[in-house]
Amino acid sequence: MNSTGRLIYTSPDRRGYHASPSPKQESWRKRVNLLWRIKGMIIPMNAPMTKEEKEKLSQAQTLIGEVIKDFTKSSIALGFNAVNRCYYCGKPAVTIDSRGHYVCEKCKRLYGTEQEIKIISDNLMS
Ligand SMILES: [Zn+2]
Repeated sequence: MNSTGRLIYTSPDRRGYHASPSPKQESWRKRVNLLWRIKGMIIPMNAPMTKEEKEKLSQAQTLIGEVIKDFTKSSIALGFNAVNRCYYCGKPAVTIDSRGHYVCEKCKRLYGTEQEIKIISDNLMS
């Protein structure tokens, strides 16, 4: 019951999460928040800035991109039970496709290379 006396439904998982996250869960939550923040950092490179600012910010962008790219690997290095996720559906990935995205088996079939997709669409039309 909340302060107004109405019962608000929360799933057992959510309740547990808010009530007492373990230190490891709390630590993982902070790490996910870090990823979310740096992923959302978009630098408007067309804004007026000096050549020096532009150079520094584009370096920063490149470095942030590298951190994002290696995030799962780094999470594992930190002792988290992280897995590479499928680019399309978020399930654990099994391989890397021709575009360099981590993909699960199903999405690899669904969203294969352009060549593969062309073959599929050609088959659909014939
Ligand atoms: Zn998938």
